[in-house]
Amino acid sequence: MASCIFCEIVAGRAPSWKVLETADAYAFLDINPVNPYHTLVIPRQHYVNVMDVAPAAWQGVMQAVKKVVDLYTEKLGMEHAQIVHSAGAAGQQDVFHLHAHVVPRHAGDGQNIKWKTHPEMRSQYDQMIARLQ
Ligand code: 5GP
Ligand code: ZN
Repeated sequence: MASCIFCEIVAGRAPSWKVLETADAYAFLDINPVNPYHTLVIPRQHYVNVMDVAPAAWQGVMQAVKKVVDLYTEKLGMEHAQIVHSAGAAGQQDVFHLHAHVVPRHAGDGQNIKWKTHPEMRSQYDQMIARLQ
């Protein structure tokens, strides 16, 4: 595998602003934050994203996400947040070491993630569900 910046960070060979760590995961501040305390949570082991991650490693990341949320709730009074995981280039993933974004949100912060919705797709739901059988 070519050098991975998040592997370098979790190994301590590249600098980072550590928030917390667990046996399975490492949480640090995003270098290009959208809001104060915008945090990335990564598994210690290299996985690309949710597609290839071992279920136990994913669980370890989610447990660390919860720790970060609880920490910010307790220490910062955080009341709103978004947890985002992007998988694959077309899924808007830019760094190909699995990570979850924890973005604290507050009213009037000027941020907005909004998807285009397609309610007309509901007409295809029966066929869509059938395809999964
Ligand atoms: P993605 O678009 O893959 O979901 O998010 C990648 C995130 O990693 C971006 O928000 C970007 O700012 C952050 N990032 C990229 N390189 C570094 C780095 O070297 N250090 C830190 N702390 N964050 C990084
Ligand atoms: Zn990596």
